[in-house]
Amino acid sequence: PATSMEELVSLCKRRGFIFQGSEIYGGLQGFYDYGPLGVELKNNIKAAWWRSNVYERDDMEGLDASIIMHRMVLRHSGHEATFSDPMVDNKKNNKRYRLDHLVKDQKADVQARVAELMGADPANFPAVVAALNASPAQASQALRDAGVRDPFSGEIGEWTEPKPFNMMFKTTIGPVADDDSYGYLRPETAQGIFTNFKNVVDSTSRRLPFGIAQIGKAFRNEITPRNFIFRVRELEQMEIEFFCVPGTDEQWHEHWLEKRLKWWEDQGVPRSKIEILDVPGEDLAHYSKRTYDLMYDYPTLGHEEIEGIANRSDYDLGSHTKAQSELGLVAKVEENSDSIAKLTIPHPDTNKPVVPFVIEPSAGVDRAMLAVLSEAFTKETLENGSERIVLKLKPHLAPIKVAVIPLARNKEEITSVAKAIKAELQGLGLGRVLYEDSGNIGKAYRRHDEVGTPFCVTVDFDTVGKGEDPALVDTVTVRDRDTLKQDRVKISDLAGWIQTRLR
Ligand code: ATP
Repeated sequence: PATSMEELVSLCKRRGFIFQGSEIYGGLQGFYDYGPLGVELKNNIKAAWWRSNVYERDDMEGLDASIIMHRMVLRHSGHEATFSDPMVDNKKNNKRYRLDHLVKDQKADVQARVAELMGADPANFPAVVAALNASPAQASQALRDAGVRDPFSGEIGEWTEPKPFNMMFKTTIGPVADDDSYGYLRPETAQGIFTNFKNVVDSTSRRLPFGIAQIGKAFRNEITPRNFIFRVRELEQMEIEFFCVPGTDEQWHEHWLEKRLKWWEDQGVPRSKIEILDVPGEDLAHYSKRTYDLMYDYPTLGHEEIEGIANRSDYDLGSHTKAQSELGLVAKVEENSDSIAKLTIPHPDTNKPVVPFVIEPSAGVDRAMLAVLSEAFTKETLENGSERIVLKLKPHLAPIKVAVIPLARNKEEITSVAKAIKAELQGLGLGRVLYEDSGNIGKAYRRHDEVGTPFCVTVDFDTVGKGEDPALVDTVTVRDRDTLKQDRVKISDLAGWIQTRLR
């Protein structure tokens, strides 16, 4: 695995996985572009998620809802009022920071002093942040008295009181910008699922339990985007809302925890690198009955959230439904007099309308990329003493599946065979198959090791009957990325040989 974020960033840029957004104009903070190989890896991760959660189950439907949503959706979901992070400004240079990030970035003794001044337990970081948040005036004083430094300038800052900062991007809809013509870019894909609950039930005749899965972009105006693609302002999520009979929710929560850990393992992210955080009651989001955060051990960053699996009770459908008071909701919801739909489904035993409970596994595609890349990243010393970097990606995730290399670039009898093999493999629909004749063979191998290509196929003089060994005519060399083993395979067997090993 990678030992630092730096070596990942450098590989990603060098080999065309990830670029800074709007780079030729100096870049835009919190936005990244996925390059030729990045888009392949990202698509493969999403396809693996969809396969596991939609195609391989009998209790799931897919959805692709729009990104811009009616402001009522995000009012009744609770986002207008509460989707905010506390921020503080440094009056000396007008820099703005997320309160928890600012404190986390301080030296241990400064953090301890902040905790002491706020009367909080220094070992309990969330409690320290909560205390700062609860009394803004005292917090501002404590940050100054403790000597909290500005991470940008390195100097002790002059800190304002913490204020909530709403992270939703607001945009104008239609040609006239008046008070009613705004909407939001969704801050999570989940709300599109809740607002389509009735449509999906009515059009598919689903009964409980069942889920709706969606992959798509979400937008958060993070105060301090940072750590490469770990915290960005335009992100992508893979989310499931799994609807079940109230009372069965805890079992389903455990089911999804297991399923999701297994999935991460199948993508090359082992359980041993994921800590399961059973989020303590005082830190739970307002909608959550219980939440498991999966904390992956990122290089340089340490354990940080890669996926959240929340039991959201009947909060969401209960918040978006009409006739709330008739439905015996368990969650505490705000009154809704705007909704025109009753979001219930018949109870499977009694047929009486019920608002189901929801289990939500919510993973970030960008954070998945980072974890998958980090686990695959390997530095090896070979027998001859040279060092190689190799991305040991699971074959189904590899951006390029096969590179076909002619041993001599200008020998027509060799290049024509290599091109024919490439065309045949390309026709199989495996993903990207490249004809690789840039530079010598050693360079080609190094390049494909670094981008994780599982197989390199080489066409040489023996293949075309101009070598020493007549037994090798019509065979090619296949080099395995991980073992470096070279197999001689008949051209007529090659397609099958590769297909079996890519699965
Ligand atoms: P954090 O505490 O790290 O800000 P969160 O608890 O706000 O994350 P959720 O609202 O639970 O995150 O979102 C679900 C998933 O979406 C996260 O587990 C993460 O993988 C991804 N995600 C959330 N915010 C970002 C972001 N700014 N950049 C990249 N991925 C994100």
